[in-house]
Amino acid sequence: MDGASDGAIHDVVVLGAGFAGLYAARCCAMATPDAPTRPGASGGEATRRRDFEALRCVVLEASSEVGGRVKVTRDVAPWDVNLGPEFLHGDENSVLKRFVDHCGFACAEKEWPDRYYLGDDKALLSAEQAETTNADVKLVHELFDNLPGAPGDGDKDVTALEWLTKTVAAPERVIKLAENIYANDFCASLGKLGMRELIEEKKGWIYGEKYLVLDRPLREVALALADGLDVRLNWEIERVDYSQPGLVRVVRRGGKDVITARKCIVSLPITALRGGNAKNRVEFIPRLPAAKTRAAEAIAMGNAAKIFIGFNKILWPSDMFDVVCTNCFLPEFWITEYPKSPLAREAKTSEEAERIAQTVGLVTFFIAGDLANEIDKMEEKVVFDRAIEQLDMIFNVPCKEHVTTKKIVSWSRERLVQGAYTHPTVNAGNSRTLLAASISDTLFFAGEATHTGVNPCLQGAMETGARAAAQVRAAVFGVGSSKL
Ligand SMILES: Cc1cc2nc3c(=O)[nH]c(=O)nc-3n(C[C@H](O)[C@H](O)[C@H](O)COP(=O)(O)OP(=O)(O)OC[C@H]3O[C@@H](n4cnc5c(N)ncnc54)[C@H](O)[C@@H]3O)c2cc1C
Repeated sequence: MDGASDGAIHDVVVLGAGFAGLYAARCCAMATPDAPTRPGASGGEATRRRDFEALRCVVLEASSEVGGRVKVTRDVAPWDVNLGPEFLHGDENSVLKRFVDHCGFACAEKEWPDRYYLGDDKALLSAEQAETTNADVKLVHELFDNLPGAPGDGDKDVTALEWLTKTVAAPERVIKLAENIYANDFCASLGKLGMRELIEEKKGWIYGEKYLVLDRPLREVALALADGLDVRLNWEIERVDYSQPGLVRVVRRGGKDVITARKCIVSLPITALRGGNAKNRVEFIPRLPAAKTRAAEAIAMGNAAKIFIGFNKILWPSDMFDVVCTNCFLPEFWITEYPKSPLAREAKTSEEAERIAQTVGLVTFFIAGDLANEIDKMEEKVVFDRAIEQLDMIFNVPCKEHVTTKKIVSWSRERLVQGAYTHPTVNAGNSRTLLAASISDTLFFAGEATHTGVNPCLQGAMETGARAAAQVRAAVFGVGSSKL
């Protein structure tokens, strides 16, 4: 449903249909939000629970699909390829894993990384080989497994690069590995990664260390989360007016449509809450408190790029999953494949359709931080040529003649997000707590950046949705809210 003004006063309006917003809406509207709502699925009894009072909830989303950063492309392989998140991080205490299990979707456990390509030695090693025989690889994991205690409140925060160079005096090769293994995963360069939040994040990580790959693109989880909710797509928010006590009026960009509700959950990317002229900025009337805007500016949104290269032949070992590369152009790539998609492919010409159809394997390079910013400025041809040369070296075969499809996605160019995900930020202080704080029992905040445990992951985003929904329910029904 596109939905314009509907004249109703909703109990809750949720801004943004990413995983945080969708789960917030489920927690407001459904007694068992972790269970799918499709007829016949185990969650069907959700709405019949007597002790649960459902809130009437509408979700507003600017784009034409639900899921937010969870989205797919159909032009590089005969299956839907994840443009954003791809993996489930951990299977313990994870609301995401519970939901996926309830949906009946399966996950394969993977070792991450399962291989290292050490460019200095031109050696492709299994993780076990590298972690037992290579002193640099051993040391980098030891350092990150045993992070120091968090700096005290009065102590200076430092970057991971300062910690490694000044405190630990780590060798250059270890620093390069740390850049490619840890900083890349956190969506930043070592020189931008804040130690205090990094340490807090590790302490707060309760999901276990399993690395899971779903048996289908994550978009299907987004669709299952949205099932049963009133989501209005193509509804870009321009203004949120909360000047009248107890009422929020949300105004659609470039139009006169207005949605009115008593409570509002804001689950927009933090870049939308910043001052200045960001392309995705949303206006609030009255303005958001200065402390909130400053907090949105204090937390850094990292950039990430994915480079996809499709092949008409499998040129790599059949069990290869994720390779961390050192002294190479690009730091990491993985190989994933999903069931062929029954959906129409997005080929613009018959030649392109042919190339997609011929694709039997896909390599996805993942690049974050400063290198992602550099890649944004490079000519695409140069990026692809160098990426393919890197694969020639690693697979030890000429790859170019087998290439079918190529695509680069840079998250800094995604207008509605303006980045990939937030990362542990130097001198973040209590910014995430300030970001999460509600305003006048009317505006409530969710979204990955508002998780005070610093988990820029899908279950973290869903937890913030649950927190905001609990706060709304507490404000409406007067019961205790849950804290994160
Ligand atoms: C490349 C990449 C790889 C990642 N890898 C992983 C991974 O493997 N595992 C993992 O757990 N996490 C991963 N993440 C992080 C994960 O994607 C995020 O933490 C999560 O999706 C954030 O959800 P959210 O609901 O907070 O934000 P979003 O998904 O950004 O949702 C916000 C929504 O608000 C909408 N919106 C914005 N402005 C407006 C407006 N004006 N009006 C209406 N709607 C608006 C947006 O369109 C969006 O749908 C990755 C992210 C990226 C980008």
